Amino acid sequence: MRYWIETMGCPKNHVDSEKLAGLLVTQGYSAADTAEEADLVVANTCAFIEEARAESIETVLELAERKTKNARLVVTGCMAERYGHELQEALPEVDLVAGFNESLTAPSGTKVTLGSKPTSDFDLLNLPRPAVSVPWAYIKIAEGCDRRCGFCAIPTFRGDQRSRSREEIISEARSLIDGGVKELVLIAQDLASWGHDRRRGKLGEAVEVLDEGGTQPLIELTKELSSMAERVRLLYLYPSGLTSGLIDTILETGVPYFDLSLQHSSRPLLRAMRRWGDGERFLERIEAIRAREPKATFRSSFILGYPGETEEDQRNLISFLEAAELDWAGFFTYSAEEGTHAHDLADQIPHELALERLREVSEIQDRITARKRDALVGSTLQLLVDSPGVARSTGECPEIDGIVMVDSSLNVGSVVEGLITASHGTDLEAVLA
Ligand code: SF4
Repeated sequence: MRYWIETMGCPKNHVDSEKLAGLLVTQGYSAADTAEEADLVVANTCAFIEEARAESIETVLELAERKTKNARLVVTGCMAERYGHELQEALPEVDLVAGFNESLTAPSGTKVTLGSKPTSDFDLLNLPRPAVSVPWAYIKIAEGCDRRCGFCAIPTFRGDQRSRSREEIISEARSLIDGGVKELVLIAQDLASWGHDRRRGKLGEAVEVLDEGGTQPLIELTKELSSMAERVRLLYLYPSGLTSGLIDTILETGVPYFDLSLQHSSRPLLRAMRRWGDGERFLERIEAIRAREPKATFRSSFILGYPGETEEDQRNLISFLEAAELDWAGFFTYSAEEGTHAHDLADQIPHELALERLREVSEIQDRITARKRDALVGSTLQLLVDSPGVARSTGECPEIDGIVMVDSSLNVGSVVEGLITASHGTDLEAVLA
């Protein structure tokens, strides 16, 4: 029996797919080379915004066309969790729609066993995962989120934050490192809050996280992982969670990469989003980090067109981007999500206007990113070779940022010193230093 998993959405979903693959292997399945050859086809969907949902449905329909008549088609992931029954009714081509917290066994006659008993999404986090083929791997350290940002529906279907225990994370990291992984990329919806729920004992278990002196649990975890792996990278840091202690720790790991979830810079708009901070505070923090580590890399993402957004907010964001000179930034238009605070707010912004604002800031940021990349020409950077001819310095996150092109004879997984010889937009070229 062979399986095929098609994954949509963010890195967090990719980790879930790897875990599903690991579970299927333990149940006697092997990976198919294509969806056409599989007996079981799984679509792991994304429900983040309208665009992602449309893409997910399109992919499911495409998989229904590609699979053989007898193969079973299962839809799981965020869309299944959020719209289970509606989806099942709307997609007769699909054998089973099941969230990660449900049994993935199809109704009689169409047995599709992904789990022998109901599997909660917390259990899914702790499933084994198959061997990796690249020298880096995501580790999802928590699921769900305790915050309630005005635009975000994630807590409505992923629930409150459930942190994995330190032991489970360390054990997964150990097996990944033993399998050749050099870089661990830690992910969660709100990474900096890892462990807070365990500290509060929300899971009804003994407190397991290291928490001496009231420090942020993530600090100790990062230190421990960093002593095990060549690189540890932290993604999705809510800005108020970037404490001085965490900054010190990130700088000590030797991967001075700061992925800050800022969403905007205008204070009134951030308050309307029910989020912390403003451009001035963000800038102060960024400048203080740069003063300590001039090579620090910054990434963030921003929403354009949140209800009530004004021309003044847009000017505020442009000034912030020009002053902050982030290395990388992603821009998204606001999408009204059912069940969120912002869904029913007055002053919804026409999509065309949001798009226009997005184009304006994207053009500005593209120029900044290109300038930052050009400035690296002539410098020597430590590079991790991801695949033949493709490497990354600490300044590039896998699958999200640019790459560094290197000689294709370099061994995958090797760490080398590279002299940057050219820049091409987001990508760099390097020779051995
Ligand atoms: S912190 Fe992130 S995941 Fe949590 S509610 Fe806000 S946007 Fe959503």
